[in-house]
Amino acid sequence: MSKLALLGGNKVRKTLFPKYNNIGKEEKDAVMRVMDSGVLSKYLGGWVDDFYGGVEVQAFEKEWAGYYNAAHAVAVNSNSSGLQVALGACGIGYGDEVIVSPYSMSISASAPLVWNAVPVFADIDENHFCITPGSIKEKITSKTKAIVVVHIHGCPADMDEINALAKEYNLYVIEDAAQAPGSFYKGKPVGTLGDIGVFSLNYHKHIHTGEGGVCTTNNPGLANKMQLIRNHAEAVVENKGEKELENMIGFNMRLTEIQAAIGREQLKKLEDEIAIRQNIARQYNDALSQFDFIKTTEAVDRVHSYYVQSFKYYEEKTGVSREKFLEAVRAELTPVEGRENEGVPVYGGYVRPLYLLPMFQKKRAYKNGFPFTGKEKYDKGICPVVEDMHYKKLWFHDFTRSPLTGRDVQDVIDGYVKVCENIGDLRK
Ligand SMILES: *Cc1c(COP(=O)(O)O)cnc(C)c1O
Repeated sequence: MSKLALLGGNKVRKTLFPKYNNIGKEEKDAVMRVMDSGVLSKYLGGWVDDFYGGVEVQAFEKEWAGYYNAAHAVAVNSNSSGLQVALGACGIGYGDEVIVSPYSMSISASAPLVWNAVPVFADIDENHFCITPGSIKEKITSKTKAIVVVHIHGCPADMDEINALAKEYNLYVIEDAAQAPGSFYKGKPVGTLGDIGVFSLNYHKHIHTGEGGVCTTNNPGLANKMQLIRNHAEAVVENKGEKELENMIGFNMRLTEIQAAIGREQLKKLEDEIAIRQNIARQYNDALSQFDFIKTTEAVDRVHSYYVQSFKYYEEKTGVSREKFLEAVRAELTPVEGRENEGVPVYGGYVRPLYLLPMFQKKRAYKNGFPFTGKEKYDKGICPVVEDMHYKKLWFHDFTRSPLTGRDVQDVIDGYVKVCENIGDLRK
């Protein structure tokens, strides 16, 4: 039994893990309500009543804002759109710099380019993997206008310190809370701590509407601008009596009535899902904390919502590479039903540090290299912590969610513990 599967022994787990699917009768009924109404989206791109969308969109926004205790929620068709709308509303433009994270989905770093501003990468914390106040401070220049802070994997960033810096240097703070709906920092939900919070409702997130997103803010001026940019600002400003025309370039980033109706039901399911994830995460942390070459990511003064669960591995304590260790873990386990082609969802590193994307390496976003000046620093090595985490230490899995049962979680734990207890066998 203790012979590792990678070395020819029996696997701990033979059947597939159940897939995550929180779409049920409630969502079906909500969709049918909209279908029966015949109004699948109600927006009009002009200064008319329907400028703000239909009943489902407006109800969803109200309920979202209520849940988050935010003054305004602006529904959009994705978090990616939300980040663009948010930066646009803050007046970001050519010549500006926006401090971003290198460890996130690419749009968190590329969104400033849409408004012709350039991203500047800050380094991450080695415990929670969000950008650190210290690194942000080092990157602030006279051109800095905003910080996009990402609560990566669901763990809140150091928001008090980041907000203090923003206040000192007069910067906007945009929280990318795509992975952190229902995460709390000092008792307050993330996404309401900066100037604007941006959530995602894409299929892979805790709760979803297929595609979708929401921006939250307590600032009525920012809410107004976000509503304009979401829905053809250029055609609305005149009749609406807007004086300020900067960034009032409209898009169509509107969520449909069907999606909003689904979102209203999904929001009701968020708390239960997070409680399940927190309970499962605790079990892995308890089981793995006995091994000195593994460090679990326990959030001490903040509430983690576990979009995924991440850990660190110390090769210097075992003489076995992270890749070999994870290969042995994967060999003990099985994929998730319906996602067999993705293999066992245990991964070394998260995303390659974003400054290594060709866009930044070649400094080409628009024609002739605009808006890069050529002086930006995107070389390998600019953020040593993220590189150390990505290439050497961090690993994460997608085994921290419903509907995994006690048996499923125990199998994952047994797989890890078996490999950890026999790690010496991998040393050849
Ligand atoms: C998913 C995700 C996004 C993008 O969300 P979409 O709704 O797919 O546009 C942005 N940032 C982070 C951190 C994400 O996880």
